[in-house]
Amino acid sequence: MNLDSIDIKILEILQKDGRASFREIAKELGITTPTVSKKVDTFKKLDLLKGFSANLDAEKLDEITILLYIKCKPTDTRKVLDQLRKTENVRELYGIDGSRIYAKVTITDKLNDFLTGLGEIKEIMDYEYHTITETVKEKPRAILSYNLKLTVPCYYCKKLIKDEPVKIKMDGRNHYLCCNTCVERYEKKYKKLKENIS
Ligand SMILES: [Zn+2]
Repeated sequence: MNLDSIDIKILEILQKDGRASFREIAKELGITTPTVSKKVDTFKKLDLLKGFSANLDAEKLDEITILLYIKCKPTDTRKVLDQLRKTENVRELYGIDGSRIYAKVTITDKLNDFLTGLGEIKEIMDYEYHTITETVKEKPRAILSYNLKLTVPCYYCKKLIKDEPVKIKMDGRNHYLCCNTCVERYEKKYKKLKENIS
């Protein structure tokens, strides 16, 4: 699916101000409100637009943030990631390569309590952390530019979805398909697969 210049402009506006109304966006870009609404709907369907959240300044709340590097065995990485994902203090979490994990952690109370908790995850071989003393720049990770392509392949035929995707929810997860024919076939295939497993 190609993102056209209107798509990009809408995303730029929303990335700057998540509270911009569809009407304001439409007016600014000289398009209709339903067009904006339809496009935003597609962005949401594709999980490109993950939500509208307020960006609070942690330092103003007297919270400290640490950068945390963790080493573990490649076979344990998934387990450690899953544990950390459930931890409220962990705000950003990345698998770097097979055996390294990087996280941004906000400490609201005692750093030692958090580190003790970390020590209880026995799969963690080693870790080091650094306290952020200055946040110089903090921007959303996606950089918008023109000629961006949304690379979402159809879950059934694997071709890149050109038009608006058809989204179906199965077992709580979103699945994207290019057309209703693929939806039908995919659902059949998925059902069979599940039957075989059980
Ligand atoms: Zn398809």
